[in-house]
Amino acid sequence: MEEVACNLCGSDQWQVVQTVPVQRFGPPGEFNLVQCRDCGLRYLNPRPSPEEMADYYPAAYHEYRASIDKRVRHWYQEEKLRKVQVHSNGGRLLDVGCNDGLFLHLARQSGWEVQGVEIAESVAAHAREALGLDVFTGELTEANFPAQHFDVVTFWHVLEHLHDPMRELREARRILKPGGLLIVEVPNIASWQARLFGANWRALDTPRHLYHFSPDSLRAMLEQAGFTCFKIGYWARGHNMGGWNEPGMNLIFRLVPKSAGELGSPRAFGQGVARYLRYALFLPLHWSTFVVEQVAVLLGQGGNLSAFARKQEDADGNAPSTQ
Ligand SMILES: [Zn+2]
Repeated sequence: MEEVACNLCGSDQWQVVQTVPVQRFGPPGEFNLVQCRDCGLRYLNPRPSPEEMADYYPAAYHEYRASIDKRVRHWYQEEKLRKVQVHSNGGRLLDVGCNDGLFLHLARQSGWEVQGVEIAESVAAHAREALGLDVFTGELTEANFPAQHFDVVTFWHVLEHLHDPMRELREARRILKPGGLLIVEVPNIASWQARLFGANWRALDTPRHLYHFSPDSLRAMLEQAGFTCFKIGYWARGHNMGGWNEPGMNLIFRLVPKSAGELGSPRAFGQGVARYLRYALFLPLHWSTFVVEQVAVLLGQGGNLSAFARKQEDADGNAPSTQ
């Protein structure tokens, strides 16, 4: 475990906001979610060191991600590509934390020249071998890309996993062309769903998510790293509804356990009834929380943040001194 100062402002003055339990993968335990007293950034402190973090990314973590239906994942990636193409006209695109490369694959089909960075060798190998993509295994700062090389750099739900997000953002700035586009997507700690579910909010993903951004702290970090943030959106397929569906499913499984209907009926019949009842309860719950989340998105309270930023230049076209 390591104790750290604020990654955004360098302050070592923080207060504990919540104690949060380990979620889903890794040994059980608890962590402190703290807030910087000077800038308001929220982060885990103390936290597992990069070496200790391996315990919280077991093979089951990657298997779980890969188990999501391919068509559904395709549908998620199409939306990401649209977000890029609304603000950029093509060229060289780098995806940091590219996973198995599906987003890069689609971008390449649309004419982009693509490269990826991925820390997990098992999924990086898939991107190289199955899709023929150029993927570097490791962190962005280790990849040594040339300066002013890319038109677009993307971080899709990756920044919150990094031990030093500021360093990675500064590196993204270095390798972007002047005026190049940066897109960063992360969960929104200031959202309605984060407030409602508290320490059990799914997107805390404790302790894999080391940082928890609000619109203000994300914007501040991008500007500190030498970007101008020109837009923040609040919706991403595959992220907003997870925060609602998981507690909804847990509730339904408590109301309608597997054994429901077993009394006086064959077990298989009982399980069939229980399954039907669960769907019958889940669908209205899903669609009503979907409506709530759409209202949240409209009011800037959605569970996802998509920040769009451009590389800042000073009057002479040089990098600001934050570099
Ligand atoms: Zn701070």
